[in-house]
Amino acid sequence: MPYAVTHILLTIIAVDLYRDYVAKHRKYFTLHTVLVAGIAGLLPDIDIPANWLLGKLFPGAVPAFLAHGGITHTPFFGLVFLIPALALWERKKHKDAAYFFAASFGIFLHIFLDYVLGGGAHEGIMFFWPLSTAGFKIHLLNGLGLNDVPQGLDALILLAWLWHEEIKHKIKDFI
Ligand SMILES: [Zn+2]
Repeated sequence: MPYAVTHILLTIIAVDLYRDYVAKHRKYFTLHTVLVAGIAGLLPDIDIPANWLLGKLFPGAVPAFLAHGGITHTPFFGLVFLIPALALWERKKHKDAAYFFAASFGIFLHIFLDYVLGGGAHEGIMFFWPLSTAGFKIHLLNGLGLNDVPQGLDALILLAWLWHEEIKHKIKDFI
């Protein structure tokens, strides 16, 4: 399963690359936006500490739908942030909208990574919740017996990123 670090790193890198190369309006898309995205990239896993806490407070009485990989790992949860983003953008509050866009992106990317690589509930992601509780998964790492890969993955992503930053800043020195 992707570790916390992988989730945060990949989200921050994706959003920062978008900011560097795609976004035409960086004033709406500040470094704060990147930070918000990084936090949101881990947000679905808030169900882990929440479960632990609820389990301590109400032993044996925590409902199944609050289990890890449940509601916070559904596109529905991402929509909770996407809808205000669209509403704010519509009202020309672009900077505020960007925070919500970044947050929903972080959540969707988290769900996607858990779906593809393996994470969340064993049953998979409930893509159609609340209409259906059917779970979907590819869980590539489990299937290939590569559960130890994420540790190495974090390191590789970080190295590639550092290298990118180095090159990019070197280039900047010349322009
Ligand atoms: Zn997760």
